[in-house]
Amino acid sequence: MTILLLGANLGDRVMTLRRAVDLIVEQVGLVRQQSHMYETAPWGITDQPTYLNQVLAVETELEPEAVLLKTQAIEQALGRVRLEKWGARLIDIDILYYDHRILHTDTLTVPHPYLHLRRFTLAPLAEISPEFTHPILEKTTLELLADCPDESEVTIFNL
Ligand code: ADP
Ligand code: MG
Repeated sequence: MTILLLGANLGDRVMTLRRAVDLIVEQVGLVRQQSHMYETAPWGITDQPTYLNQVLAVETELEPEAVLLKTQAIEQALGRVRLEKWGARLIDIDILYYDHRILHTDTLTVPHPYLHLRRFTLAPLAEISPEFTHPILEKTTLELLADCPDESEVTIFNL
């Protein structure tokens, strides 16, 4: 099982997230669980539109590097243009976890290095995996959320 975080803050965000889920089902694997969409304040570069974020649990036969290649291809297919780190984007797909594996390569760090610092990640993650234990920090999602210093606004987005 791999846990993915989707983010969109430009264009028709709901449509983009839905299309991303469809492409993930086609190209990565079955989506076993999905959180609500969350409206979240931008993090890092705050002078940009608010995001919609969503977390998915995906059952995949692909190895982590192959998941990254597929999710990057899906970002491209949905029209992402890479401008600046943490800047506005049509779609971002990050790998939060891959089972309980710990990976550090040139292209991939898993668990995602900022996972525990960002409320926009932890809030939707807590909905689908509240008791999942971070393999390095050895805390559950609920514990990470309770300890998270990030106070940016995160609310369920009602469609
Ligand atoms: P960000 O998500 O930090 O705003 P990008 O989506 O442009 O930035 O990703 C930059 C690079 O991060 C990608 O080219 C990818 O190789 C790398 N990366 C490292 N770890 C991960 C991960 N867990 N999930 C997604 N991308 C990752
Ligand atoms: Mg990314």
